[in-house]
Amino acid sequence: MIYLDHAATTACAPEAVQAMLPYFTELFGNPSNIYGLSLKARKAVNQARSEVAKAINAKLAAEITFTASGSEADNLAIIGIAKSRSEIGRHLITSRVEHHAVLNCFHMLEREGFKVTYLPVSKEGRVDPDSVAQAITKETTLISVMMANNEIGTLQPIAAIAEIAKKHGIYMHTDAVQAAGAMHIDVQELGVDALSISAHKFYGPKGVGALYLRQGCHPTPIILGGGQEKGLRSGTENVPGIIGLARALALVNENGEAKRRCLTELREQLIEGVLARIPDVIVTGSRTERLPGMASFAVKGIEGESLVIQLDRRGICASAGAACNTGQSGGSHVLNALGLPVSLTRGSLRLSLGYENTAEEIEQTISALAEAIELLRSVIPRRHGAGRKKA
Ligand SMILES: *Cc1c(COP(=O)(O)O)cnc(C)c1O
Repeated sequence: MIYLDHAATTACAPEAVQAMLPYFTELFGNPSNIYGLSLKARKAVNQARSEVAKAINAKLAAEITFTASGSEADNLAIIGIAKSRSEIGRHLITSRVEHHAVLNCFHMLEREGFKVTYLPVSKEGRVDPDSVAQAITKETTLISVMMANNEIGTLQPIAAIAEIAKKHGIYMHTDAVQAAGAMHIDVQELGVDALSISAHKFYGPKGVGALYLRQGCHPTPIILGGGQEKGLRSGTENVPGIIGLARALALVNENGEAKRRCLTELREQLIEGVLARIPDVIVTGSRTERLPGMASFAVKGIEGESLVIQLDRRGICASAGAACNTGQSGGSHVLNALGLPVSLTRGSLRLSLGYENTAEEIEQTISALAEAIELLRSVIPRRHGAGRKKA
């Protein structure tokens, strides 16, 4: 099997699993209690908090809140900050290419009376910082723009946007779920007030995320209960998951530069191989401002999902856009925001590479793709408009 869907999820690193194991069994204590067994769990969680803070260059461990997913981190940041500042203003800014964990929060807030500006993007999927500046009103309290897009890999100018936000006293959140592990993350360089990550995107376990909240940023909690995580996120801590997240993040950043350089080379091998060997294919997103491991294409004249099935038959795991968009009517909101014609967005293909992939696998993938696309094109009648759906 060749796994090329790291943007959907990754295999847990064996070292992370090893670090987690004792916290399922002998060290199973609830961190909230006061006896020894619990103290051990609490200490481990706080150690993990310090490690995560260090990995993203946060000033304080207390600026890290653990959540049950990247989605929850996004929800807490966006809904929580919007609500906590609703006395100051009720206008929010985001982009049209965000993940649904972000977009759906804004849609809900709109139903609650907030005004939201959804910024357009360039053909490459980039938000123009000037458009952010122009969208700001006296009522604006929060800007949320993702660090790296999960469908096309385009990187956003987060530091530039955060600087504008800061000048206006507006809070800035970034969904770094796709970026964490694939890029160096430094919250001081970025200048953001809030940043979301999720362990299963960087070789950690599923079901655990973290939200960085700069000191002084106090979102209104969205999960109420026993007051864990300084009241920001009630619920008994997922101790093994938190340990696994911290371990995976430290691991993925070891020799990070070198690993990312290799990944970028593999990505270019793939993109250049595809463009050279297969006619009528374009790269979606930016060629340069792009996640190291992300290759995304639009293939003319075929359906992305048929291609994914053909690749699966050849032992390759790929995706037609984001995993969570499967079955979405009207196609991908990200590809639509790029202004691509439907004849292209229909044939969307995302190949997201990981650190275990090899040049040999990339060559095999290019050949398999060429073969699969030729096959699909030969069975689909060549006419304009809708390609015939399989019976
Ligand atoms: C995967 C992903 C999420 C959601 O994270 P989960 O931990 O799966 O809830 C949010 N944003 C982006 C950009 C993602 O890629």
